[in-house]
Amino acid sequence: MVSSLTQPQVTPGSLPSDPAALRDHLQRRGVRYALASFVDLHGIGKAKAVPIDHLPDMLAGSELFTGAALDGVPQDVTDDEVAAIPDPASTTVLPWRPDVAWLASDLHLHGQPFEACSRSILGRVRQQAAAMGFRFQLGIETEFFVLRRSADGTLEPASHRDTLDKPCYDLIGLLDNLDWLDELVQAMNSLGWSVYSFDHEDGNGQFEVDFAYADVLTMADRLIFFRLMAKEIAQRHGLIASFMPKPFANRTGSGAHYNMSLADLNSGSNLFAPEAGEDGGISQLARQFIAGVLRHAPAICAVIAPTVNSYKRLVMQGSMSGFTWAPVFISYGNNNRTNMLRIPSAGSRLECRAADISCNPYLGSALMLAAGLEGIRKQLDPGPPNLDNAYTLSPEERQRRGLTLLPRTLEEAIDSFAADPLCRSVFGDAMFDAFVTYKRQEWADYHGSISEWERQRYLEFF
Ligand code: GLU
Ligand code: MG
Repeated sequence: MVSSLTQPQVTPGSLPSDPAALRDHLQRRGVRYALASFVDLHGIGKAKAVPIDHLPDMLAGSELFTGAALDGVPQDVTDDEVAAIPDPASTTVLPWRPDVAWLASDLHLHGQPFEACSRSILGRVRQQAAAMGFRFQLGIETEFFVLRRSADGTLEPASHRDTLDKPCYDLIGLLDNLDWLDELVQAMNSLGWSVYSFDHEDGNGQFEVDFAYADVLTMADRLIFFRLMAKEIAQRHGLIASFMPKPFANRTGSGAHYNMSLADLNSGSNLFAPEAGEDGGISQLARQFIAGVLRHAPAICAVIAPTVNSYKRLVMQGSMSGFTWAPVFISYGNNNRTNMLRIPSAGSRLECRAADISCNPYLGSALMLAAGLEGIRKQLDPGPPNLDNAYTLSPEERQRRGLTLLPRTLEEAIDSFAADPLCRSVFGDAMFDAFVTYKRQEWADYHGSISEWERQRYLEFF
């Protein structure tokens, strides 16, 4: 329920860029191992570890691995290994394990950038933005559940007092969870992430921690690291941090709202800020960006809401608090939380509310940025904003205004992704095919299972 991009931007701390100097610096801090980290299709971190004296070799690409071992990396068992080339600027000493340093890596094959690397896919679109004179700034709001597994195996909030039907901003629930929250927030701040707010969210056991926006690549690296760190810290408190988009049918889901703006690459000034005489809290350039994102929204959805479960979050009903707060239509508008793209009252940025916390942030932000840049290149017009509660508009009124639904299932989203040429050009052929194949299989696996709901409803019904 809090929004980023109103807080000052944090620039990554200055670390030595020379490999030997970085090794010495880390060694002096007590680091004994370095991780060359990379992600699978889901944006889940994997790594190879080296003793710290091997850091210069690791930075030169010594760490090879076989992509076929990871979900959705388009390599066969017979293919040559890819090399993880860490980005020294991403060096992060684990706050809960300060003898280990983590470095986000780009993948290379045969000495060339590996086309299907998630981080490099974002890097390529980031370069396109730079060529147009833009820097993409992103703040991701992290919503997630922290739960306890009880003796009988059921999952419940960590605090037995966290039982309200409308638990948003619940102070007792927050205070009862403050031990692990404090550890998490301190850890984030020790990394210079500048947490500016955290709260109990609208589901029992659900929380949100918000920190300063950054350059898109830094923010994507941070989200990967954040999920790892929250899981590790929760686990040390006997708890489970879950980034499943909608763990409970009757509680709100976990979004990962993307707060976005373009800055002038040279001056740093925010190009989404309205100029004198422009209304709606946003510039003409931002309106073009919006139009590009809306045009590709169904395909983008497949990437920012990438699971079967994601679509159980993007609904109007399904929360005992009264609201899901999640978008259902392809729309943009003012501070209104029923829109897919919200322009917060503070203005000068866009919030995409369709994204959920299970997304691979490299792929999600790459496609979002590419769509926005297309809107700018083609000078697209998003039409009038939706200023009304989209949940309560009649179907006729929605039709009159041209408000169409976001995909209702992963299958619909993947069909849109597969049919959208922008997706192939952003992902590259191999990753595009891998994504479609993997996600179609995920849908088929789900459709091939029979749920308890179905048995209860149909077993003796006919
Ligand atoms: N949890 C809601 C979601 O799924 C968002 C609540 C909020 O506006 O912060 O997206
Ligand atoms: Mg929230």
